[in-house]
Amino acid sequence: MLAKAKRLLTRIITWQKRPIAVAKNTSEETTCKNCGDTFVGNYCPRCGQSRNTPRIGSWSAISIFLDTWGLGTHGLLRTIWNLFARPGYMIGDYIEGRRQLYFPPFKTLFVVGTIFAIVFTLSGGFSDEAIKARHIPLNLENRVEEASDDAPTTVAQDESEKVRDARIDKQAKEDIALFEEYLKKYDEWRDRNRVMDQLAMHVIFALIAWRIFRKSPRHPRLNIAENVIAQVYICTQMGVVALAYMLIEIPFTPYPSGTIPGLASFLLFFYDYKQLYGFGIWHTLWKTLLMYLLFFLAVFVFLLLIVIAIGFRAGVAAVG
Ligand SMILES: [Zn+2]
Repeated sequence: MLAKAKRLLTRIITWQKRPIAVAKNTSEETTCKNCGDTFVGNYCPRCGQSRNTPRIGSWSAISIFLDTWGLGTHGLLRTIWNLFARPGYMIGDYIEGRRQLYFPPFKTLFVVGTIFAIVFTLSGGFSDEAIKARHIPLNLENRVEEASDDAPTTVAQDESEKVRDARIDKQAKEDIALFEEYLKKYDEWRDRNRVMDQLAMHVIFALIAWRIFRKSPRHPRLNIAENVIAQVYICTQMGVVALAYMLIEIPFTPYPSGTIPGLASFLLFFYDYKQLYGFGIWHTLWKTLLMYLLFFLAVFVFLLLIVIAIGFRAGVAAVG
């Protein structure tokens, strides 16, 4: 039983690793319908048109229609299927130069992102109530008012210690309020620009992966651009999962969250990195965890910079 399961798993992994085969060239001679040259093979060497150019029927009409947005060619569905069946191997294939069979990364992300945005909008995810429901109101106005009650706005030349303390206290409260306001604005921007936010996050992940996975067994020394391309495909894969999750969520909640649970995205990262970089299971798990830690560190540093900027502003205000 166990041996059987093991054999099955081995067969699946062997299949996952194998790149998609390109169709063999035919040995028949064809006259190109486009340029009139006679050739042997699947595509005309002169103009590139396929040997297989049948009369326009309903299916080809649909494909011509989809081609308006560049969707009819290069197998969008094949790419999305591969992003689940063998994501890391497929991304590796693409980076290594097997590109013709796949839909390009940014284009795939754009299509999935657009469908996500349409479904999210239709299900009310972008409505003001939904955004309000997802964010805890901070009551900034009250806090600032409360702060301004405590201290006089003008400072006398010989201010007593008490007045000075009150002034510092007021300043601190204002700074915290300002910091919270920036955070809230940043959070709301992220909420309203889901796809951009996800893309930005994945670009940061690409920068970290470039260092963390640079000595990988399967694809050592990938450059930053290659890591970004890999991460764009991963972002797309997660977009499809978020879309599917949202469709399940819709009947049960007034507004869908539009995000996937944290553990699910961690496991997806692990699954993708395992196949793409080829480290062992524990090694990949540790490196994925490290990716998360460094990402949170990057966010922390970003927030720290905002705090320093506010402090600097307060300092300038105090001196001025
Ligand atoms: Zn031709």
